[in-house]
Amino acid sequence: MRISIIGSGYVGLVTGIGFVKLGNEVIFVDIDERKIEMINNAQPPIYEEGLEELMREFKGKYRATKDYRDAILNSEVTFIAVGTPSREDGSIDLTYVKQAAEEIGKILKEKDNYHVVVVKSTVLPGTTENVVKPILEKESGKKAFEDFGLAMNPEFLREGVALKDFLNPDRIVIGVQDERTKKVLEELYKPIDAPKLFTDIKTAEMIKYASNAFLATKISFANEIGNICKKLGIDSWKVFEGVGLDHRISPHFFRTGIGWGGSCFPKDVKALIRKAEEIGEDPIILKAVVEVNEKQPLKLIELLKKHVPELRDKRIGVLGLAFKPNTDDVRETRAYVIVKKLLEEGAKVLAYDPQAMENFRRFYPDVGEQIEYVSSGKEVLERSDAVLIVTEWPEFEELDYSGKIVIDGRRVRKAEETAEVYEGVCW
Ligand code: NAD
Repeated sequence: MRISIIGSGYVGLVTGIGFVKLGNEVIFVDIDERKIEMINNAQPPIYEEGLEELMREFKGKYRATKDYRDAILNSEVTFIAVGTPSREDGSIDLTYVKQAAEEIGKILKEKDNYHVVVVKSTVLPGTTENVVKPILEKESGKKAFEDFGLAMNPEFLREGVALKDFLNPDRIVIGVQDERTKKVLEELYKPIDAPKLFTDIKTAEMIKYASNAFLATKISFANEIGNICKKLGIDSWKVFEGVGLDHRISPHFFRTGIGWGGSCFPKDVKALIRKAEEIGEDPIILKAVVEVNEKQPLKLIELLKKHVPELRDKRIGVLGLAFKPNTDDVRETRAYVIVKKLLEEGAKVLAYDPQAMENFRRFYPDVGEQIEYVSSGKEVLERSDAVLIVTEWPEFEELDYSGKIVIDGRRVRKAEETAEVYEGVCW
């Protein structure tokens, strides 16, 4: 099939290259010239395992452009995969989704063939039908579900293993209303062997929010128990190993530490809270989930102060800036909160991350400009009075921590075994 993808970020690019691997042709649309140029040179603008190899292998089967007209007229299905960030008050910002819908609608007006539009961006229940559909209909002068198809297909991939997740997902959720759209999406996803759940459109939108809210809840719950364990001298990882053996619970996503970040959980949980409040519901659990998560990274500084009571002019090393390993994404990374606090206390911060240093400096200029970036974890260890482990990159398991004070937010076993002074946040 010929597919166009609006928004070539983590989701758009991975989804598009995934579809190419499945035998389709893809045109990416973005407003960012740098990304377009890189994609056309088979260079991924983001770091994601296996992506560069696939982009090189399938060069010629995809291209990127700024031109919506070119993309829509030369494809049969269009996915909207633009960002849906948070506004200041936590509510969802639909600016990019609306812009994309407007541009697509204008071109649909000129198009004679049946075209299917699929919302893949994470949007609150009701958005596809009450925001995207009216824009498409107004701009095209056509009727959804009759003259063109419309569906909602949330994405569940995890950054770091995104391609693998796209090609081997736990499930594919497709919110549809009309049979014709359903058939197109059934055909498109046929090569992927996974349970496919067809629902109405707003249920598909809600499945994404409920999934992310539950995962965030699971981690905040684990961290709350983990904080109690720490005070009682209990290893919370052993506790959750025991808890996870219960088949009703499952062992996944029970790693205690300094909390969740990234481009999805924080903004999605907050957007759901705002939506609930808007319709007169008080989401007590969700609010507590966020509160626990906001306090959790500061536990690392509390533990650090047990060993280094005065941080002023001390050189504190930070291992890891990405919100999790195997990505260069720093959105809502716990590293930001930690570095900010260290600087406020007068510490000199020395940091290393294998992929995310440039993004950290660019995304967080307020603190990003004030820290010294070094070229290896080894250098961080050699030059710091104490070290905080913020992201569990596999290479941090290879370092020599002997003679060091290490406060670990993620559980790097080598540090636990070899550091002179070692504290784990929940163990
Ligand atoms: P991103 O910020 O990495 O990418 C969005 C892209 O859209 C950018 O390249 C941007 O330049 C482009 N864009 C913005 N406005 C545009 C426009 N009008 N026309 C064309 N392109 C435009 O975002 P992302 O992480 O890929 O997330 C996209 C959506 O997928 C969000 O709704 C997110 O919640 C959801 N999602 C993300 C993940 C994830 O792990 N990142 C997982 C599942 C779902």
